[in-house]
Amino acid sequence: MRITFRCLYLVLTMIFMVSNTHSSYAKRAKKEPQAKYVFYLIGDGMGINEVAGAELYNQATGKGPDQVNFRHFPVVTFVNTFSASSLVTDSAAGGTALSTGTRTYNGALGVDSDRNYISNIAEWAKASGAGVGVATSVGINHATPASFYAHVNDRNSYDAISRQLISSNIDFAAGAGFLTERKTGLDAVFYEQEARGEGIKVFHGVEDFKNVSTSYDRVICLGGENIGELPYAVDRKEGDTALSDFVSTGIDYLYGRYEDEGFFFMIEGGKIDYAGHNDDAVSCFQEVNDLAAAIDVVLAFYQEHPDETLIVVTADHETGGLMLGAGEYIMNPERLAGQNMSENELTSKFRQAYMPPPPPQRRGQRGGQGMYPPQQQPQWTPPTWDEVKAFLKDNLGLWDIVPVDKKTEERFHEMYKSTFTAKEGENDVRSLYSVNTRLISEAVLYLNAAAGYQWSFGSHSGSPVGLYVNGVRASEFNSCDENIDIPLIIARIAGYDTKLNN
Ligand SMILES: [Zn+2]
Repeated sequence: MRITFRCLYLVLTMIFMVSNTHSSYAKRAKKEPQAKYVFYLIGDGMGINEVAGAELYNQATGKGPDQVNFRHFPVVTFVNTFSASSLVTDSAAGGTALSTGTRTYNGALGVDSDRNYISNIAEWAKASGAGVGVATSVGINHATPASFYAHVNDRNSYDAISRQLISSNIDFAAGAGFLTERKTGLDAVFYEQEARGEGIKVFHGVEDFKNVSTSYDRVICLGGENIGELPYAVDRKEGDTALSDFVSTGIDYLYGRYEDEGFFFMIEGGKIDYAGHNDDAVSCFQEVNDLAAAIDVVLAFYQEHPDETLIVVTADHETGGLMLGAGEYIMNPERLAGQNMSENELTSKFRQAYMPPPPPQRRGQRGGQGMYPPQQQPQWTPPTWDEVKAFLKDNLGLWDIVPVDKKTEERFHEMYKSTFTAKEGENDVRSLYSVNTRLISEAVLYLNAAAGYQWSFGSHSGSPVGLYVNGVRASEFNSCDENIDIPLIIARIAGYDTKLNN
C-alpha cells in the first residue's frame, strides 16, 4: 500500500512538474518581449582605448561629451575579434563574423572558409518581414556594410559587391559613395546609374535627403558627391553630410514603411579605423564622438519605443594598438586641444600653401610626373622654417600648448629641409587609406605621444573590443564573449529565423 501511494505520489509530482514546466515555458515564450526595431552599430577600429581615450580628450578639451553615451549602457562587456585565418582580423572577416555568426578568413565577405555562401542577419531580418537598412561614413560597398548584403571571396571585388547591393533587398542603403576597382575601369557614377536602372532612388547630400519619401521602394543616400568617404568629423563644414544625417533619414524611411513589421538597421562609424591607420588621435576621437552623435539619434527613437527597441554597439576590431599613458605615469590629454583638423586635411593645406603646384598632365598621361615647358616654370619659393613652425603652431598647438624640446625641433627642421629638396614622393608617409607629408605625419605623432596617446603601429590589433547593449532583453548579452554570438543573440531577441534556405 505504502509503495503504491509513493508511486502514485511520484507519478503525480512528475506530471505536475512536467505540466508546470511546460506551462511556464509557454507563458514565458508568450510574455517575452521581442525587439521590433533593431539598431546594430559598428565602430570600425573602435577598441576599448579609442573610447576611453576619447572621453579623456573630451573631458580635457571640452570638444565632446564627458561621457560617451553608449559606454554607459546597462550592458557593457567585451568580445573576442579573431578571424578563422588570423588572430588579427580585417574588416571583411570581422564584419562577416558580426553579420553571420561565422568566423571566416581575412578578406572574405559573406562566405565561409570553404568559400561557401553564408546567410547574414540582414537577410534573416528580411525573411521575417522586417525592413532593412545599412549606413556607413565610408564607401557604401566597403567591407563592413558589404558584409550585410554581399557574398564574395575577396573584399576588393567592388564591381561584384556593388552589383550585389543593387540586386539585394536592402531597403535603405547609405554611404559616402561607391568605391571602384581599377581593373574594371568602371567609375562610381556608373554604379549609381545601375542602381537607378533597377528602380532605386538615389539622393546626394543632406539637403537632398529631404526628398526621400516612404513611397519609394528602395533608396540609396550618398554624401554630397559620390565620394569614397565622408569628411572627418573634425574637418566637417557647414552643409557636409554626417553619419547622423544618414541615420535620421534612415529611421524616418524605415519606420515610415515598416512601423508594423519592424526593421533592422546597421550603422557603421567607418572612419575611426581610417584615423587609426593614420595614428591620428584627435581625428579618431572626433569620429568616436560622431558615432555617439549618431547614437543620440537612435536614442531619441528609443525614447519613443522603449519596449520594442534593441541597440547593440560594438566594433569589428581595434586599429593602431592605441595605448593610454606616456610611460611616466602621466597623460596630458589637454595637449590635443590645439589640433583643429585631421592629419589628411593638414597635409593638403600644407601642400597647397607651401609646395610647388603640380605640373600639368599631358593628354593620356597617368600620374603626376609631367614637366613644365621651361617658359612656364611657376614662380615658387619654399617657405622659411619660421613660417612652417607657425603653421604647426596654429594647427597643432606645437610650441604653444605642447612643449617641443631642442632635439625634436632639430629633427623637425631636418625634415622641413628635405621636404623641399627630396624627389617627389620620397617624403610621403603611406598608410592604408592616405598619403601624408612626412613632416606633418611626424608632428601629429609627436603631439599624440606628448599628450600620452601612444600608437603601436598603423594596422589592426587582436585586442578584444567593447560590446554595449541597451533596450529589449539587453541582459541576454551579459555572458556574450565571442563576436560571432552577437548576431545570433540579436536574432533570438528579434525573432528572426537564422536558418534560411540558401
Ligand atoms: Zn582597418
